[in-house]
This record gives sequence, structure tokens and C-alpha cells, in this order.
Amino acid sequence: MINFNKPPFIGKEQKYIREVIEDRQKICGDGHFTMKCNSWFEKNFSIPKVLLTTSCTHALEMAAILANIQPGDEVIAPSFTFVSTVNAFVLRGAKIIFVDIRPDTMNIDENLIEQAITCKTKAIVPVHYAGVSCEMNRILEIAKKYNLVVIEDAAQGVMSKYNGKALGAIGDLGTYSFHETKNYTMGEGGALLIQNKNLIERAEIIREKGTNRSKFFRGQIDKYSWVDIGSSYLPSELNAAYLYAQLEEAEMINTNRLKTWNLYYRELKELEDKGLIELPVIPSNCQHNAHMFYIKCSTFEERQALIKYLKRKQITASFHYIPLHSSEAGKKYGEFYGEDKYTTTESERILRLPLYYKISEEDMSEVTNSIKHFYKGK
Ligand SMILES: *Cc1c(COP(=O)(O)O)cnc(C)c1O
Repeated sequence: MINFNKPPFIGKEQKYIREVIEDRQKICGDGHFTMKCNSWFEKNFSIPKVLLTTSCTHALEMAAILANIQPGDEVIAPSFTFVSTVNAFVLRGAKIIFVDIRPDTMNIDENLIEQAITCKTKAIVPVHYAGVSCEMNRILEIAKKYNLVVIEDAAQGVMSKYNGKALGAIGDLGTYSFHETKNYTMGEGGALLIQNKNLIERAEIIREKGTNRSKFFRGQIDKYSWVDIGSSYLPSELNAAYLYAQLEEAEMINTNRLKTWNLYYRELKELEDKGLIELPVIPSNCQHNAHMFYIKCSTFEERQALIKYLKRKQITASFHYIPLHSSEAGKKYGEFYGEDKYTTTESERILRLPLYYKISEEDMSEVTNSIKHFYKGK
């Protein structure tokens, strides 16, 4: 049986978790390890402020509040993404304007954004699919021209770069996920990355139930009170301790994943050369993090047949996403602008292969050999 994913585990996680329980005796949020994780990102990715959160979903919800999204506002996002990308804005009363993707990277097509803008547009939410960056220079240029907030959903993009800059650290706000299916994990968790310094103080308040408790803990005020809307978006120290063990080894995890990714690419190139499948495209200004390895079959039917074939060989391969604009909630809360040229058709052809930290070469060979066997004689 070849698993689709196994959560990364380095070996120091238990030691750090034990330290939290036995030595530090502080297991709630914003303790030693949370601070260490925050500053690890701030330092390594040159970003003014990073706050660990309970999930990427919650980081996006915080971003929607910080961007002052009001009922009736419009937010531009791709339809080919996870629900949380847009749910956060719908919760604030926004309408989602879905824009088509580029078939090469599966990211929002930067050249289709401008025509979707109206006087109600407030924000653009690019999603860096598979840890490969959107064309951010163009997106920032449009945002500047129309005075829009840019919130990067970089859930899959930890350690990836665009023109040398860390994903999530390019727009006004960015979000990461540390769900167990992501490259670095704490079970459930995420982070909010704040580039726009004017938003830092309010972000701390929203994350602490709408109180100025963070300021109180730093001794900047002598009592804390309710000052804004907010919720409880800070994770437990137990989770932060697990994550920190992985951040210390971030390079090693990244290198291992890239090795796997490159091996898949090399092994499957012959099928692409024969015109049987398509392989992922990494633009030259993007440094990716091997979050995902996917292939594109020629049709939906062929993909379904391949999934079935691999399943018989005990290999789990999976697909996503059902385009949001065609879903029940997507129809209610959003609208596709322009022609759906690629979102639906490309999403129906995509197939993700097993990829996780330290997947064995034997398992990978079994995957690639099975795919080659499936295509034999086609
Ligand atoms: C995983 C993911 C999320 C949600 O992350 P959680 O931490 O599980 O809330 C959001 N957006 C994208 C693109 C994701 O891949």
C-alpha cells in the first residue's frame, strides 16, 4: 500500500512537546515555541510580522477582517482552489468574482484580473497552487492602480520563492497552512504574514479575541480590554512545538521533497514526450517547494481510469478541486467573470501522485512504473 501522504516527522517533536509540558508548564498560546516559530519566519523570509494561527483558514479570516471587507464588496479569486480561500471573505459578506486560471501553472491568470474589477472590488486573492507562484508583479501593479488589497493564499507555498522573495511575503497579507497535508505541519495550524506594517497592531487584537492583551503582555499598557471585533486564532504551544522541530530542518525537508519531485519528473518525461500526459510547468522566476507532483491526463475519463488502475495496485492518487463556481455555495456567493476556458477542463485532467517527506524510491518507482504500464500501447 502506498500512502498518498504521511505527515512529516523529524524526531525532535516529542522532545519539544515534553519541554512545553514538563519544563515550561505553559501549554496555551503565545509561549516560547510560538514566538520561536514567528521569528523564524520573520527572519528567514524578511517579513515585518508573522503570527501563528490555528489554521490557514483562520489566517484568511483574519486577513478578511484586516482588509475591512464589508457586505457587498467584491473579491477576486480563482475558482480552482480550496474553499477556505474564498469562504473567509464570504463570511464578511463579500461576493466572490472568480477568474479563470492559466493552464500552465493552474494559477489565476493575471491578464484576466483587470477586466473583472468594478467599483465594488476590494481585494485580490492569488493562490500559489502547488507552491508555484502567481505572476505577482502584474498582480501588485493592478492592485496599486485600483487601490486593492492583495492577500496571498500561500497555504502550499512555504519555502517557495518568486524572484527571490518568499511567497506570502509579497502582498499586503499572506497566509500559510501547517495542516498535516502540507510541507511543514503542526497537525492543524497556519500563519498570517503581515507585510503592511499599519496592519500589525490590529492583527494582534483580532487574534486575541478583540482585546489588546498582546500589548498588555509586553508591558505597554497596564490592563487589557475589549477594543475591536476578534476571535481566538492563536494555537496551543503543543502544536507550535511540533512545528518548530520541522522549521529547524526546513532545508532538509525541502531538499528531500525536491529530490522526489525531480525524480518523478525525470521518470515520467518520456510519457510527456510521447504526448500522452502533461507535466507541471515551473516558470523561470519561480523557485518551488515540491508541495505537489501532478500529471495531466488527456481526458477526464482517462484520469478516472488511471485512478482506478493505480488503486488496484494499492497506490492512492487523488485529484482536486471541484471548481468553486460550479459548487452549491459557489453559485450562491460568487460569480465567474468571463469565459471558463481552463478552470473546469484542466481540473478534470489533473492527477496528484503520492509525495511526502522521505517517500522511498522503491515506492516512487512503483508509482511511475504503474503509470507507464497504464499508458503502454496507447
Ligand atoms: C490547505 C489549504 C488551505 C487551508 O488550510 P488549513 O490550514 O487546513 O485551514 C487554504 N488554501 C489552500 C490553497 C490550501 O491548500
